[in-house]
Amino acid sequence: KLYNQVQDLKGNIRVYCRVRPFLPGQPNRLSSVDHIEEGNISIIAPLKYSREGKKSFTFNKVFGPSATQEEVFSDTQPLIRSVLDGYNVCIFAYGQTGSGKTYTMSGPRELTEEGQGVNYRALGDLFLLSEQRKDTICYDISVQMLEIYNEQVKDLLVTLEIRNSSQNGINVPEANLVPVSTTSDVINLMNLGQKNRSVGATAMNDRSSRSHSCLTVHVQGRDLTSGSILRGCMHLVDLAGSERVDKSEVTGDRLKEAQHINKSLSALGDVIYSLAQKSSHVPYRNSKLTQLLQDSLGGQAKTLMFVHISPEPEALGETISTLKFAERVS
Ligand code: ADP
Ligand code: MG
Repeated sequence: KLYNQVQDLKGNIRVYCRVRPFLPGQPNRLSSVDHIEEGNISIIAPLKYSREGKKSFTFNKVFGPSATQEEVFSDTQPLIRSVLDGYNVCIFAYGQTGSGKTYTMSGPRELTEEGQGVNYRALGDLFLLSEQRKDTICYDISVQMLEIYNEQVKDLLVTLEIRNSSQNGINVPEANLVPVSTTSDVINLMNLGQKNRSVGATAMNDRSSRSHSCLTVHVQGRDLTSGSILRGCMHLVDLAGSERVDKSEVTGDRLKEAQHINKSLSALGDVIYSLAQKSSHVPYRNSKLTQLLQDSLGGQAKTLMFVHISPEPEALGETISTLKFAERVS
């Protein structure tokens, strides 16, 4: 109920902020986060940002460092239900490298059941709900995994042999669509995707932070009485790190990566901003990411952006730019 009211007020875009806890081995640090209350977060800001020494930002929801994966997911759940009702949904994780994007979407590296992130829980929920509706609607669920690196789209579910013999620049609609029916199917596929993702990454250069990864879930439901078909899809996107790279310090491949990331994240920001403004022109064409997600951004589609911030004072510059990005699109 409440969720629908919020949707009516704010359109179909919601923005949540999540603050990462300090990591083990970082004892007794001073946090750059001053205070969290309801949907509001205030941070300790240097004078150049604010005379009061504090700056506050408002979002639909703010999750503090002690929020569990379960708590974070429970505020995401209504969107999962709407995929089965035939809506398109995009869920993004935004933030600088190390701020907790992958943790929110997938979980910690050593995955436990309670550590499972939004991706696993969302699929688990889809299976559960579709099972509950099985007397009236028959659902087929399948997934794709794509990576966008330097404006090139790569299919992560192509087996290595096939990929070696295929052309570069795989066409997205032809990307492998794999039927799934249990959470363990999904875990296996995510592991395969993760393995394919790291192929080609140099040891020096953590590619996962320089590329966007997108798990797309397609749902098709057939009404058992009328035979009518409904389709919904959900994109779960772990975005490339949003940190600014000092242009004077990087050259070659790093500079190219930085420019592509910068371009695609601002294109995404511009699209969501125009949608929030109900502007008549939405600039989808400016990046591969927004082109790929065009059908699921705007119109009846629902968007949730998780923005992540790191608590360390050294990260303040990035934290402020992340919060500003988020405030603009919310
Ligand atoms: P990103 O994907 O944004 O680069 P990660 O998700 O890899 O960041 O997080 C960086 C580190 O912090 C990882 O070791 C991760 O397990 C840990 N971490 C992130 N968020 C949390 C959290 N909410 N609680 C506990 N550990 C976290
Ligand atoms: Mg990551």
